[in-house]
Amino acid sequence: MEIIDLKNWGLVNGDIPLGIVGPCSAETEEQVMETAKDLIHKNVHVFRAGIWKPRTKPGSFEGVGEPGLKWLRKVRDTYGLKVGTEVATDEHVRLALENEMDLLWVGARTTVNPFAVQEIADALKKYGGLDVPVLVKNPINPDLELWIGALERLNAVGVKKLGAIHRGFSTYEKIKYRNVPKWQIPIEFKRRLPNVPMICDPSHISGRRDLIFDISQTALNLEFNGLMIESHCSPDDAWSDASQQVTPKKAVEITEELHLRNHAADNSQTQRKINALRKQIDELDHRIIAMIAQRMDVAKEIGKTKKESNVAVLQVERWEEIIKDRHDMAISKGLSDEFTKKLFEAVHQESINNQDELMK
Ligand code: PEP
Ligand code: MN
Repeated sequence: MEIIDLKNWGLVNGDIPLGIVGPCSAETEEQVMETAKDLIHKNVHVFRAGIWKPRTKPGSFEGVGEPGLKWLRKVRDTYGLKVGTEVATDEHVRLALENEMDLLWVGARTTVNPFAVQEIADALKKYGGLDVPVLVKNPINPDLELWIGALERLNAVGVKKLGAIHRGFSTYEKIKYRNVPKWQIPIEFKRRLPNVPMICDPSHISGRRDLIFDISQTALNLEFNGLMIESHCSPDDAWSDASQQVTPKKAVEITEELHLRNHAADNSQTQRKINALRKQIDELDHRIIAMIAQRMDVAKEIGKTKKESNVAVLQVERWEEIIKDRHDMAISKGLSDEFTKKLFEAVHQESINNQDELMK
């Protein structure tokens, strides 16, 4: 993919992270202007606001539509901030370009649908918008190929100022986050497409304003290229996503307190220490793999014995006993409940698969 470097998008100078801040939704002209005026800051480059809102349930606030674009233009004219919004259809693209948006993004509910992404790509070409930067949010389901495919569709029509936004993945389980981050997915994205800037959206990942700082810091530690943070002049009164929005003052404070990491440790003593620790990790990982393989061999042995005496593969009481014992031990060693469960479920599933294979 031919991608233009983020530095040449006309939004941010140098290597500092791109800051995109603004309300989930544009609600009224006053709310938009009131929020924007306190976001004039060196770390904020683009003022964001949703104009058309994709909502899970009908009847929720679905955005103010076209008039909101005029308010965004007013923000740019009055405060000098660049402005951007989400587009999902040909009509959105037409109106956004007519109103000279500086940045567009494709929402998580749109990235999942190749027809919709293609419609956006074709509209960008049709209405002369190929030079406008476009960011593609990850699809709501953890599907890396679908995410990359959406960028490929845009790139194929000629969009070269292309970036990605990591906003977490929808889950049925009740967890701490509104959308699980699954950091390995954006990391793998960066490995596959190293020239595409990766922006983190800690607001949609967390769903809670108190987690925004920590998620942002994790993203910067992972060398993300920017942040998209939802901010509202009166967060609790927001018409959408109230619990995850912060005041403009707080948003700016978050960007000021974040610590930017260097790409590689700058002094050789630090580098040596990191290298030595990495060797230890390599060594430990090799041992983990060898021991799991050994465990599978034992499981197969059990499988053979079960087959000979015609015993069922899964024995629920035994499994419950394992879970309890390993869980208690792992917790006492400081491992998390969630990790322990996942680890042993995966190990157990692999054992069952092995035994099942033997039974055939
Ligand atoms: C948004 O940015 O307000 C939004 C709707 O986000 P997402 O597409 O990530 O759900
Ligand atoms: Mn939102």
